[in-house]
Amino acid sequence: MNLILFGPPGAGKGTQAKRLVENRGMVQLSTGDMLRASIASRSDLGLRVEGIMKRGELVPDDVVVGLIKDRLADLDGTGGAIFDGFPRTLAQAEALDHMLKAAGRRIDSVIRLKVDDAALLTRIEGRFKEFNRPDDNPKSFKTRLMAYNRDTAPLVAYYEAQGKLCEVDGMAEIAAVAADIDAALLAAA
Ligand code: AMP
Repeated sequence: MNLILFGPPGAGKGTQAKRLVENRGMVQLSTGDMLRASIASRSDLGLRVEGIMKRGELVPDDVVVGLIKDRLADLDGTGGAIFDGFPRTLAQAEALDHMLKAAGRRIDSVIRLKVDDAALLTRIEGRFKEFNRPDDNPKSFKTRLMAYNRDTAPLVAYYEAQGKLCEVDGMAEIAAVAADIDAALLAAA
């Protein structure tokens, strides 16, 4: 099974992805984590994207599509992929569909974590204090939320049209969100 965890920054995608990795032997493909790793290693890519990410803007589609493409072969013999923070634009969603098709795979389910903006802000403020992630500062977070609403939210209609969208209340406790995701995956299986 291959699924997309979909939702704004701070919705809990990473937390839920990690649980699915542990319980189902799935592979988390987080473009944000891959980009942060390239910044940490001071690679050319890292140097190219560092400022963009710090400001909370989206990195170019070809960069993230390339990162995902390089990782698809890792899925062989696993429980499938959890796409976390990817796709974020329509061009990325279309590229993902093409890449998966070429690899004989498909997206089975898109889990949308719904959380209201005020709750997101509170969560991100807490995360900024705890982990000091540069793009969790209030100004960059506002830019990230705007990018989500402008470029990413329209993907809801894209996946709804494919009949793959499942909505989950991301405001609930972590365990309750996890249970709702499990139920949605059972229904999609
Ligand atoms: P995340 O960890 O998913 O919140 O991503 C952190 C930052 O990495 C985002 O604010 C973007 O700057 C960049 N990023 C991660 N994934 C993507 C993507 N699929 N498309 C464009 N930019 C991305």
